[in-house]
Amino acid sequence: MPSLLEVNGLHAGYGLFSVLHGLAFDVKEREIVALVGSNGAGKTTTMRAISGLIQSTGGSIHFNGEETTNLTPSQMVARGLVCVPEGRQLFPEMTVRDTLLVGVSTPRARDRRDQSLKTVYKLFPKLNERSGQLCGTLSGGEQQMVAIGRGLMSAPQLLLLDEPSLGLAPTIVKQLFQAITDIRDQGVTVLIVEQNVRSVLSFVDRAYVIENGSVELSGSAEELINNPDVVNAYFGIG
Ligand code: ATP
Repeated sequence: MPSLLEVNGLHAGYGLFSVLHGLAFDVKEREIVALVGSNGAGKTTTMRAISGLIQSTGGSIHFNGEETTNLTPSQMVARGLVCVPEGRQLFPEMTVRDTLLVGVSTPRARDRRDQSLKTVYKLFPKLNERSGQLCGTLSGGEQQMVAIGRGLMSAPQLLLLDEPSLGLAPTIVKQLFQAITDIRDQGVTVLIVEQNVRSVLSFVDRAYVIENGSVELSGSAEELINNPDVVNAYFGIG
């Protein structure tokens, strides 16, 4: 199967500070793939480079067969690649419904607006119940649902999720991971960054372990769960 996202020899960083050193991985259509690794390994930087938030300094990114290296975030959204950033980044004074509609920013998303809203409300019935409520009054788990819902309103083909479980209670994380599986079952491919290695390997298809800006190890979730190096290094976390 051809890759939906293909990253080859990627270099990126912040000014003179280089973070990614020849990172390479791919995501196939309808997969859920995780990027895991220690703090500061470069996972968020990878998400930023893929979604156009920072420029890469070497290597290439292909999305849907097209070279998209260093396109802007809005060009990437128009092509169907959307990032839900770490920390949710919601406006506390905006209602749930208005926040979801912020995600409708391209002609492709406008065409599918009503259908997407139905899908989001079906996926997260709580957001339907609370559509008129201000985001600042929601629980952390509900805010994360809004952030993911806003991403889905852009009608993505590939959804990037940066640490969606951060700060959430274990039962909420379980529900969230189930919702991500449901999103994939509806045809959206998912790339997820997680600290919570043990939990994330329980539902993704494949994962890449990133250390010092390159891939240290990769494999199916099952292979990695049974790899003693992974267990020793990461199963204490989360
Ligand atoms: P974490 O789980 O802690 O977020 P990560 O794997 O996502 O880890 P990155 O956020 O990609 O790591 O950070 C990689 C390196 O880049 C770190 O050394 C970090 O301090 C640095 N860094 C991240 N963002 C910036 C920035 N805006 N400007 C300068 N350096 C940054």
